[in-house]
Formats: sequence, C-alpha cells, structure tokens
Amino acid sequence: MATDVAALIQRIAEVGRKHPSLPDLRAVEPFAHYFDADGRLQETRLDVRDGAGTRREILTRFLLLNAVLDQGPDITGLRRMLIGVVNALYRRETRILHKPVAFFQEIGLSIDSILAEHEAVRKVRAAVWAQENQSNAARYNLFMDNSRQVLGYAIFRWGVPLALPYLLEKDALRKNSNTELSPTLLLDYLEQYASAEQMAEAVKSHPRYGLGKAIGNKASHLFAKWLVSGFSLTRRTDTAWGKLSYEVPYDSNAGRVLWRTGYLLHWASESAYQHRSVLQLGRGKGATIYLRVTNIRGIGAERELDKPVLAAYREICLEHLKTHRTAPRKVEIQRIQHAYLLGSKFSAADFDDGLIYVGTQFCLNHAQPRCGTCPLRDMCAGYNENTSLITKYRT
Ligand code: SF4
Repeated sequence: MATDVAALIQRIAEVGRKHPSLPDLRAVEPFAHYFDADGRLQETRLDVRDGAGTRREILTRFLLLNAVLDQGPDITGLRRMLIGVVNALYRRETRILHKPVAFFQEIGLSIDSILAEHEAVRKVRAAVWAQENQSNAARYNLFMDNSRQVLGYAIFRWGVPLALPYLLEKDALRKNSNTELSPTLLLDYLEQYASAEQMAEAVKSHPRYGLGKAIGNKASHLFAKWLVSGFSLTRRTDTAWGKLSYEVPYDSNAGRVLWRTGYLLHWASESAYQHRSVLQLGRGKGATIYLRVTNIRGIGAERELDKPVLAAYREICLEHLKTHRTAPRKVEIQRIQHAYLLGSKFSAADFDDGLIYVGTQFCLNHAQPRCGTCPLRDMCAGYNENTSLITKYRT
C-alpha cells in the first residue's frame, strides 16, 4: 500500500487538534490568578503587570524553562517536577520567574526543592514509566543524560534558561542605568527575529544569548510552538510568526510514528537514513535498529514533490519560516508537512500534538504497540503490511 501522505498528515493534525499536548500552567501557583473561573487563560489580560514583568513575559520565561527540561525521559514526570519545584520555591518567596537571580542566590533551597520533587515524582511515576517502556523502575531518573549529580543538572538545565532574562536585564541596565526596564525583556529580545523559526535557532545558537548545549533543536522548536500556537503569547501577528512559522520539534515519539506509518520511507530510502545516522544498526534496545530522529534535520527528500506541493514548500521557506531569500532547491524532509498544511486550518503545532498523542498513547517504543485502537491504524504501513517497521526499530 502506497502511503497517502496528504491524508496521513491531515489525520495526524486532526488528532493533534483534539489532543493538544500543553504544560498545565494552571497548576503553577504564581499563575493561578492568570486564569478565569472556568480555568481558561485570560488572554485579554496578558499585558497586565505582575511584579517586574507582564503576565505574558512571566509565562514566556516559564515555558523556556519547561522546554529545556522537557528533553528528559518522562515528560509527564518532568512537568510535575517542574511545577512542584516552582511552587515550592514561590512558597518560600524565591520568585525565580519574576527575579531569576533568586534561583542562584538561594541555590541550596533550589537544589533541595529539585531533589524533593524528583523523589516525590519518582514514587508515583517510576512503575508506570517502566511498564510503558518495558524498562526497570529502578532506572527512573529525570536528570538529563542519566546524570546523578543534582548540582550539574540544576545549573546547566535550570540555570541557563533562567540566566537569559537575567543577562538581558543586566545588559539593558548597562546600556542605560536610568531608564525603567521593559516588563517584557525576554519577549522583546525574542520577537526581534524575522520569524519564529529564526528565533528558535537563535535561542540555541546566538553567541551571547544562545543557550547552547543546554537546549536541543527539538526543545527550541517546542518553545517556539508554545509561544506562537500553544499559548499565543507572541505579540507578532505577521505570517512569519504564524501557525506555520516554526519547524515541528521532531522527537522520538514523532520519529516512531512517522517511521512505522511509512511516512519517512515515502520520502527517502532506508540507506539514505542509514547514511545520515538516522538509522543505526544494532544500537537499539535488544539489538534492534536505533532510529535517531533528531538526525533527520537537513536531509533532502529523494522523491519529488508534486508541483503544487513544491510551490507551497517554497512559500513556507520564504514567507513563513523565512529561512531562505530565494526559492530553495533542496526539499528538507522535516519541513514537508508544512507544505501540505498550508491553506488548511491546521498549524504545525496540531501536527506535532498528533504525533505526541499517538506516540505516547498507542505507538509505544516496543514490539507490541496498541495498534488495534490507534487512530492511524487504517493508514499505517507497519500495521497493515510490513510489521518489521514496528518490530525491527526502536527510538
Ligand atoms: S497503527 Fe500501530 S504502528 Fe501504526 S502508528 Fe498506530 S500504534 Fe503505531
């Protein structure tokens, strides 16, 4: 069965629209008054001041921190831990989002809070996580890179995103110590970029303000997705900050679903993926083939796009992502879905949310995913015709 990529992309986006994957901001105590009685974020009051920043700014700082931490192994557990730590610190008047330097000034308290919340989350999540991942609960560890040292984790993963608004504040004061600081320092900086995609790149790689290795490409795009689509915090209203203005933050969930459904093989051969180390023989669990989806970035499609889709692809690069000044010759696989979504009601976030939902609820990272109830089952190559797409590969 040839993969009908247009129908598959549309289905994934529909699923994502119904099942958005967003951090639960209502559970963050300092944000409690940002929501109305029905639990909806009061979008018309985002520019109301809350201490040194506006609500919009404080939420942006939180989401940057959240995006960095989301790179760990159990997103549900990580988000709980983040909320727990922020709440614990604010109860002690350590207002790390309003005054980021407080995280460092109260480093003992910050570290104690991370340790305590990590332990609390481990107690409720380790067994569930182990079952879902066919792993051992004793291996549950939310510190990234499987590290056991809380100091390194706290400074590198928490400290770096918190230091960015602090550095912007210091630089603004050095330029003019008499002026009142902007209540949207971080947003002012981010929204200078020509597109949300350019902003996502700069968040990682700007020589002064980039987070460097503390944030991966996936996380910087996740941040762009939340800023533009998930919570609509950006004040920019142009196409280059619109619903298709950032790349999809392909992660392992996305990679598994796109591989098993046959989507990735539609665009390039297995050997092309091997050549770029997207597929790594024998390096997956149980000597399976390891699928490292983050390596897909920049790989060109071997199959030609239909003319209207190619025109849409070019428009995406020129007007939405603003990654090119003239029409691109190469078609990069990780951007192709944008061309199909152009003109639809769906955003890149919907597509990504669909992948996350299917990847975490059905297409689990072992040989027995829940295909029987998966919303993509009628169009999935792995389920319908080539089960080796499921059994031979792991992410
Ligand atoms: S049908 Fe099965 S293999 Fe295909 S996407 Fe769904 S869970 Fe994954």
